[in-house]
Amino acid sequence: MSYNKTVKVKIGALYIGGGEKIAVQSMCTAKTSDIDKTCSQISELEKAGCDIVRVSVLDEADAAAIKQIKSKIKLPLVADIHFSASLAVSAIENGCDKIRINPGNIGGADNVKKVADCIKAHKISVRVGVNTGSIEKEFLEKYGKNEISLVESALKSVALLENFGVNDIVISVKASDVPLTVKAYRLLSRKTCYPLHIGVTEAGTEQMAVVKSSAALGALLLDGIGDTLRVSITGDPVKEVTAAKNILRAVGKDNDYVNVISCPTCGRCQWQSMALAEKVGEYVSGCAKPLKIAVMGCVVNGPGEAKDCDLGIAGTHDYCVIFKNGEIIKRVSVENAEKEFFKELDGLIR
Ligand code: SF4
Repeated sequence: MSYNKTVKVKIGALYIGGGEKIAVQSMCTAKTSDIDKTCSQISELEKAGCDIVRVSVLDEADAAAIKQIKSKIKLPLVADIHFSASLAVSAIENGCDKIRINPGNIGGADNVKKVADCIKAHKISVRVGVNTGSIEKEFLEKYGKNEISLVESALKSVALLENFGVNDIVISVKASDVPLTVKAYRLLSRKTCYPLHIGVTEAGTEQMAVVKSSAALGALLLDGIGDTLRVSITGDPVKEVTAAKNILRAVGKDNDYVNVISCPTCGRCQWQSMALAEKVGEYVSGCAKPLKIAVMGCVVNGPGEAKDCDLGIAGTHDYCVIFKNGEIIKRVSVENAEKEFFKELDGLIR
């Protein structure tokens, strides 16, 4: 099945779509009008690798805070607004780089026009975000709650904005159900060229949210669908960014990192390979070099299974071998293994 290529849309200084790097998004949990807390959360998200940050705008104080927040941060800022055209206008006038609305709940065509005119005047972009909880009634009645009603509802909102001359649009059609999310984006991707913001909504607490998001976003990204993504986790948003980056890496959409390969170990393992794998993983976590490093449980299978690694180690009960590209370069005692391995690792990553 082939899916449409997307066009580029600008969000602050960043472009998404049209083959640009897939951008990682997250959302602040602080009240937006608490400017210090919001900015410190944004700074944590940026350090973790977030590319775009979203804040919710519930009242005029939140909309007004956007001006100060923008002056203190570098990341593109998205304002998330429901039900109020005047808050959307205020958020835009205060300098947000993109707004997220559902035109279906912003209060009729006049209000949509008011927001659309403001979007155009300030040359910003907009995400039309429809999820299973906000499908328009006419489509729910016609199709039930499924991928067709999600997509039709989103496309109707898009058409409304297009009628008022807005073209810098990003679309999302999220569900909390993984198969429905995948079906909806696949359908949408055949019907539009706007960039797609992908994610599973209300995905749950950390472990299940990561599993659901990996399943849905992994399938979509491997299809070539998705220009920006958010992993929704009930918890610290920094974890969302880490999970999103790991999903991109797992599906080969981000290769600028150190990939640590380690075996699960079995009865053949007679040294502390698990502990070393953990230490190596932490040590290289911030390094942006495309390297493959292996920590394997035994010399019987380790070097062979990790032949394609830039550097690897495998052990027995009394010695370890360090290898590069499948060739053993050193044999060291188990006691010295960690020190010797980190020496070689430093040579590669520094
Ligand atoms: S590399 Fe060795 S220790 Fe690790 S799983 Fe394979 S056989 Fe077991």
